[in-house]
Amino acid sequence: MQNADTAMYHAKANGRDTYRFFKAEMNARAVRRQAVEGGLRRALKQEEFLLHYQPKIDLVSGAIIGAEALIRWQDPVLGLVKPDQFVPIAEENGLIVPIGQWVLREACRQVQSWIDAGLHAVPVSVNISAAEFRHEGFVDDVALILAETGLTPRYLELELTESILMHDAESSVSMLESFKNMGVQLAIDDFGTGYSSLSYLKRFPIDTLKIDQSFVRDIATDADDATIVTAVIGMGKNLKQRVIAEGVETHAQLAFLQARQCDEGQGFHFSHPVSAEDFGRLLSPGNDKRPQLWPG
Ligand code: C2E
Ligand code: MG
Ligand code: MG
Repeated sequence: MQNADTAMYHAKANGRDTYRFFKAEMNARAVRRQAVEGGLRRALKQEEFLLHYQPKIDLVSGAIIGAEALIRWQDPVLGLVKPDQFVPIAEENGLIVPIGQWVLREACRQVQSWIDAGLHAVPVSVNISAAEFRHEGFVDDVALILAETGLTPRYLELELTESILMHDAESSVSMLESFKNMGVQLAIDDFGTGYSSLSYLKRFPIDTLKIDQSFVRDIATDADDATIVTAVIGMGKNLKQRVIAEGVETHAQLAFLQARQCDEGQGFHFSHPVSAEDFGRLLSPGNDKRPQLWPG
């Protein structure tokens, strides 16, 4: 009966109105899921999460003009765990709400401490899941965290996906306006992979469009991807939004983006996500070698 129940769960997860035969690996997955869930609860209590920071680069000057905070989980047994291993599970069981609050507080605290240390601090963006965005009191929570950490709001950017914003577009407009009035910056993450309505795109007070890495990967070789990326850059310019390309890995991609006046880039070509300590070093005023850091 238990196995039948597991199979039914999988059928429901696959969009209902279908069937699944039970397979032994379904149990393995359920067990892993439970282990991760238990681990996440402990991780929250024992502060096993940390943030890595990946620079965002101005494609004209080569300067670091921002950073994206990316969560990691330092599990005592498994070592450093990447978000794709636990964020989807935390999204399903609701733990992403307290985890996300930790991320926001830690990112704001860190930027303020870079500012206090006299470093040339840059705005940091934080990824927000649907459950966090829709959680009652999210706007107030962000305001409280900014007040507690003393961070000037323009140093914080929230990254939201199209699907989050389009889910209830009217309420998204008013939430985004609250953030805008607070002075927080807003970005659409993984742009192009969701289903944006262009009329809403105009109404959302968005500062930045982040072109998803799946389009950037083949820009130098695939004519369709090249057309899409060129169109998004043009659209962003007309809507007065900054455009950043994600997943820039090669000089050929960089050259393509620079030729089309894409504002910013982020990717392994410039730097992998690094620890807070290493990122602080990138920001130090004496770091005049910085432009040479980028192979491009
Ligand atoms: P994302 O927000 O689109 O973040 C970009 C991801 O691409 C990061 O993976 C980053 O390490 C990776 N990346 C950066 N440059 C390159 C490149 O040149 N090539 C390739 N192949 N990949 C590159 P990461 O850190 O594993 O994060 C994966 C996703 O997990 C993120 O995608 C985001 O959706 C989610 N995530 C990360 N941190 C958080 C968080 O604090 N809260 C929430 N809710 N989600 C998070
Ligand atoms: Mg992101
Ligand atoms: Mg992205």
